[in-house]
Amino acid sequence: MGTNGGRPVLEDGLLSPGLVGKLAAGVWMVSSLLVMGTQLIEPGGASRSVILGAGAVTLGSGLVLWKVPWERFSRQAILWLVPGAFATIGIDYLLAGRNGFLYAITYVMVFALLGMCEPRGTALRFGPLLMVAYVVPLIVGAGHEGSLGLASGLYVIPVCLIVGEAVAWGMSLLARSEATLARAEERNTVLFEEAPVGMAVAGLDGTLLRVNRSYAAILGHEPDDLVGRTLRDLTYPDDWDENGHLFDQLLRGEIDRYSLEKRYLHADGHGVWVSVSATCVRDDGGVSSFVIGQIEDVTERRTLREELAHAAVHDQLTGLPNRAMFMEHLERALLRAERDRRHVALFFLDLDRFKHVNDGLGHDAGDRLLQRVAARLQSAVRPGDLLARFGGDEFTLVCEVRTEDEAVTIAERLKESLVQPVGDADHEQFVSVSIGVAVSTGEATHPGLLLRCADIAMYQAKDAGPAQIAVYSGDDELATVRNLRTSNELHRAIERSELVLHYQPFVDLRDHSLVGAEALVRWQHPTRGLLPPGEFVDLAEENGLIVPLGTWVLREACRQGAAWAAARPGGRTEASNAYLSVNVSPRQLAEPGFIDEVATILGETGMAPEQLWLEITEGAILRDPDTAVATLRALRSLGVHLAIDDFGTGYSSLGYLKQLPVEVLKIDRGFVANLEGDADDKAIVQAVIALGRSLGIGVIAEGIERPAQAAELLSMGCHLAQGFHYGRPTPAAAIGRCLPDRVADWIQPGQLTVA
Ligand code: C2E
Ligand code: MG
Ligand code: MG
Repeated sequence: MGTNGGRPVLEDGLLSPGLVGKLAAGVWMVSSLLVMGTQLIEPGGASRSVILGAGAVTLGSGLVLWKVPWERFSRQAILWLVPGAFATIGIDYLLAGRNGFLYAITYVMVFALLGMCEPRGTALRFGPLLMVAYVVPLIVGAGHEGSLGLASGLYVIPVCLIVGEAVAWGMSLLARSEATLARAEERNTVLFEEAPVGMAVAGLDGTLLRVNRSYAAILGHEPDDLVGRTLRDLTYPDDWDENGHLFDQLLRGEIDRYSLEKRYLHADGHGVWVSVSATCVRDDGGVSSFVIGQIEDVTERRTLREELAHAAVHDQLTGLPNRAMFMEHLERALLRAERDRRHVALFFLDLDRFKHVNDGLGHDAGDRLLQRVAARLQSAVRPGDLLARFGGDEFTLVCEVRTEDEAVTIAERLKESLVQPVGDADHEQFVSVSIGVAVSTGEATHPGLLLRCADIAMYQAKDAGPAQIAVYSGDDELATVRNLRTSNELHRAIERSELVLHYQPFVDLRDHSLVGAEALVRWQHPTRGLLPPGEFVDLAEENGLIVPLGTWVLREACRQGAAWAAARPGGRTEASNAYLSVNVSPRQLAEPGFIDEVATILGETGMAPEQLWLEITEGAILRDPDTAVATLRALRSLGVHLAIDDFGTGYSSLGYLKQLPVEVLKIDRGFVANLEGDADDKAIVQAVIALGRSLGIGVIAEGIERPAQAAELLSMGCHLAQGFHYGRPTPAAAIGRCLPDRVADWIQPGQLTVA
């Protein structure tokens, strides 16, 4: 017999022994009193005193039966009540006027009770006893008027057995379904209580009616502590709004369920991230009854997710936002600034001499320095501004500013944050940063563009020395962008052979014979057409591309020079030897392998060294005069000739000129242009010619455009010249199989057929 909260439960078609006892006592008293009562009313029955006496005995014994602690007896013992009941029915019958109806119906009642209390088959087992108990009183009271005939047993006894068995069968069915229900309820209870996820039932006002152990454990409570508290009490204050809104929608029937991640308040007071899903249970009429909620602790998952998200956009070493996050932030800041008509200032910071720390003290020291610098810079940054580690020793900062001056003030603050040495007391390190600043203007609203501007400004600052600040000037913007694009394309130009050489003649003014030709590079740009060197040579010098470019020019010029020489009818006779002149950039000259390269190219192409002139600018010599002198001497020893190009523009010290193995000075065309009119220019040209003569160096005048310039030069004693008047730079293919002997045979612009 199972109990649930003290409530008796039917099991296997049986009532509890205690209840059976009470029922039997009740039936005993009621049926006996009924029999007595009818006897009192019916005339001709037993005497009144007998009836009352019997009634008192029945009542008294009924009460005694009622009081018996039946629950302590076994079911078998209780069954002894049945024969007792049979005997009582018989005595009642005999005493109480032999009422046949009551006699029969009381047996039926006993069997109905037997069916209710005992398992199936019990009624049948009492069949023989019933027959005896039924028949005996009838025989004893035979002959009495109105007595029940023995034949009634043929009906009453089967009815009793059928009623008993039928009721027992019904009871067993009832018991079985009740047991099934009870088991289901118990299973549900266990499921609810032991579920690994937190489960709760809440009323329509959000009060918790029931919570399981997991639910309480997630919040650090015992289940009973939570019953009666509201969802709002338990939710982290900042997170209630969204939850409250969804809860109301759920109750109004606008949604069937909702799920969200929110924080609950743990018993300790901290927030616990949980994933909540809630469903509203409604009655048949659709009216909300209560809400079932499930929660799962997702704090760990969420922390991991947040850590991963943080790692994706932060630099591990310094903890600062990384380049990806910075670019995203910059883009948003630019959009916001454009909308609010404000400016964005971008600061590009690069540590000065960081390489020395890394190389000298090791990478660990370098890392520590970067961490300290990051912390210092961060301390100098306003709360809303974003400082990022852009990569290596580069940091970037983006701020909204009203004016350029404000940006400069910020840059100064950043610089000052590193004035005090960083590091430990026993190992102080002095560091400084070069800062490039670019402020967004109307056009410069693209993040990449602004970044490039700040980067360029930073290089300007670096050029000015350590710890300098440079602000990018907006005027250079377009030129810069174009330059950047050009330098990207120039890389490809060399690879794709888009470079070509044109050749311009040198003439002997006295007889107009051709002395040689200068190789001048051009770029056959796929979209911009043929570009003169002024468009890309300086840029190539800046970004270092001049080195591969110069190598290509030298090799191509030598190849062409050798081909022209070989194609001459008389071969390489001295008379036909025309010089080929090639420009060498300062950077190329400074390359350690340059001398070897020249030697190799001469060997590979078969160009005679004495036919090659290399034109060096004054700047290349001034950079590092001692090295330049050594290099030029080595070149000269290969057999090649050397000329100084654009002479007069580089403020070269005349002292060096003496030491240089140079054979020709090329007077810059700027002085030749106004030779007839400008007395100063004329004086300079005259001085250069005199200088050349005194040092034993030849002089070539560049840029002869008019015959008058040639006449003037001749009168001054300069007889070598180059200029459009004699020939423009021309593609090799247009010149022919070999260089002409006389400048008159040089192809003139109108005759050009080859691009
Ligand atoms: P540069 O070496 O002084 O070359 C002479 C420049 O003056 C050439 O310009 C030539 O076209 C120009 N020119 C010659 N005669 C006249 C004239 O009568 N009137 C005027 N107005 N100009 C004249 P280009 O070809 O534009 O070359 C410019 C500079 O680019 C060259 O000056 C040289 O410094 C540099 N360059 C050219 N090719 C190379 C090269 O292969 N390597 C290097 N490093 N620099 C080169
Ligand atoms: Mg030149
Ligand atoms: Mg020149």
